[in-house]
Amino acid sequence: MDLAELVRRRQPCLVLTGAGISTESGIPDFRSPSGIWARYDPMEYATISAFRRDPVKVWEFYARRLGVLAQAEPNVGHRALARLEQRGLVQAVVTQNIDGLHQRAGSQDVIEVHGSIRTASCLACRTQVPLGDVVAALETAPAPPCPRCGEIVKPDVVMFGELLPAEAIDRAFALAASAGLLLVVGSSLEVHPVAGLPDETLSRGGALAIVNRGQTPYDRRATVRIEGGTGETLEALEQALTEPTPRLA
Ligand SMILES: [Zn+2]
Repeated sequence: MDLAELVRRRQPCLVLTGAGISTESGIPDFRSPSGIWARYDPMEYATISAFRRDPVKVWEFYARRLGVLAQAEPNVGHRALARLEQRGLVQAVVTQNIDGLHQRAGSQDVIEVHGSIRTASCLACRTQVPLGDVVAALETAPAPPCPRCGEIVKPDVVMFGELLPAEAIDRAFALAASAGLLLVVGSSLEVHPVAGLPDETLSRGGALAIVNRGQTPYDRRATVRIEGGTGETLEALEQALTEPTPRLA
């Protein structure tokens, strides 16, 4: 069975995306040899204790990433998923990415399980600051202060050692449990708890499809497994779903 046929037959289709869909927009991933963790030690830049110890140092790291994130544009893969959602063929997108590119491509129902760079929050008084204000503050200071109490705010991305946003995780698991198809795009399915979503779908009788460069622990349980670029694959998928349904012989 090909991917288009699977999407047609196994509704609702829930999509799970990881760094692989955004690398095609020029955003480096984390774990590959050219990824962010090859250059920066996550223990120094990406843990909540590192942030509490030295928030200015962590913000130096984010300030550099913000430049890349601000310039990145959604690619054909993001846009194909947004169109598939409009056409009722994709129910929602669960994403490990914090870049906001799905929303910018037009996706309506996006569940961000690792948080988002679009806001930052004060750990002392919970005031939330939009990205624009953060960027403006970084022009004159090494780290953005809370407008209410002056503490340095923290980007609303989930750092190592922090709890994942419970509401987003609960919704992702509920949707995965009722999905006819879980389509994994650009994730190596190594980071928990998101790596548990395929089990949730498979154990309730749903099907699994994986589009990723590189192996995943679920490859053998996938009905369709495509080793390839996410943009070209999703664009081809949307194209195939535009053609009239083949009549059954
Ligand atoms: Zn504050």
